[in-house]
Amino acid sequence: MVRERKIIPIEPDDEDDGKNASKGGGTDEGQENSSIHVPGSGIMAPGENDTVLRPKRIADMVGQQEVMDVIQIAMDAAKKRKEPLGHILLDGPPGLGKTTFATCIPREMGVKVDMTSGPVLKAPKEMIPYLTNLEHGSVLFIDEIHRLPKPVEEFLYTAMEDYRIDIILGEGVNARTLNLQLQPFTLIGATTRAGMLSAPLRDRFLIRQHLGYYSVDELIEILSRNATKLNVSLNSDAAIEIAKRARGTPRIANNRFLWVRDYAMSKADGRVSLDIAKRALDMMGIDEIGLDRQDRRYLETLIRVFNGGPAGVEAIAHTMSVSADTLEDEVEPFLLRSEYVIRTQRGRCATAKAYEMLKLLA
Ligand code: ADP
Repeated sequence: MVRERKIIPIEPDDEDDGKNASKGGGTDEGQENSSIHVPGSGIMAPGENDTVLRPKRIADMVGQQEVMDVIQIAMDAAKKRKEPLGHILLDGPPGLGKTTFATCIPREMGVKVDMTSGPVLKAPKEMIPYLTNLEHGSVLFIDEIHRLPKPVEEFLYTAMEDYRIDIILGEGVNARTLNLQLQPFTLIGATTRAGMLSAPLRDRFLIRQHLGYYSVDELIEILSRNATKLNVSLNSDAAIEIAKRARGTPRIANNRFLWVRDYAMSKADGRVSLDIAKRALDMMGIDEIGLDRQDRRYLETLIRVFNGGPAGVEAIAHTMSVSADTLEDEVEPFLLRSEYVIRTQRGRCATAKAYEMLKLLA
């Protein structure tokens, strides 16, 4: 059976020496080198820089204090009871640290992790190898868990609840059910759309935590740590500027920092000053509040084409020639939170703040 796995590099740290990352979670040089870094965009495929910058321990993570406290308590208790950690669901917009938590938790627990994602698991049988390979207490991470097909989701119910799966062998009158006992394990699910999860699946997660946007101070801290990791001289005013233009998202802050670093190397002596940071970010079309070209195009489309709304996300996506999922996952959350857009039952509407920002008349 061919198993498609999402390769999220987990670098061995000093203590586990690589033993705790199973095949799916281990580094794969070929995949890593083929990953793309899109400077200045919100997207960064797992790649070399991602491996270097991703915190390895929960203590190395910045912010999300409440989530960390809850997870820390659950881990302490599970360790004392010598039982697997309860299943954990992490939700929030992309780039806020869901995968980072999912790689740090197994490390803290000293267990293996295997990783996959909702869209690649097309049928229950594709779930079987992941489940049968689990060891006592090990972690299975399913990214984009809201995109699991219904039959796969239902197949997971008994696995999550009783560590058991029922496999149907043969067809018709000859069909038999094989009852397979699994090792007790922890499922970590990540989703950008908690609302799309069915109640039975959601209720099987003992711990459900929402990851919120980061403050500018937290992003400055992340950037300073990453400048040290990458051996780049980053002036504090430049760090503030990049953090302010990062839409509260560590992945975007890191991406923009990497672009600014490249710009500094190409156009100056490699040191990142405020002036260099501003010039590099302006060149990428990233404005002072961190909106990029796609964010502004969304607002312009909503205002010019749809008279400010209400407009359905599908209609906006068609007009912009992008997928509605991209808009819902990557563009809208920050615009909603910053009150440039509101969602009503009849569709999305631009607010007065959006008109003002784009210098358009309401
Ligand atoms: P998600 O899974 O939510 O899309 P990731 O966990 O992949 O987000 O985070 C993207 C990148 O942002 C990581 O590679 C890491 O470098 C950085 N990052 C995320 N959360 C934190 C954090 N709390 N502290 C420091 N860096 C973080």
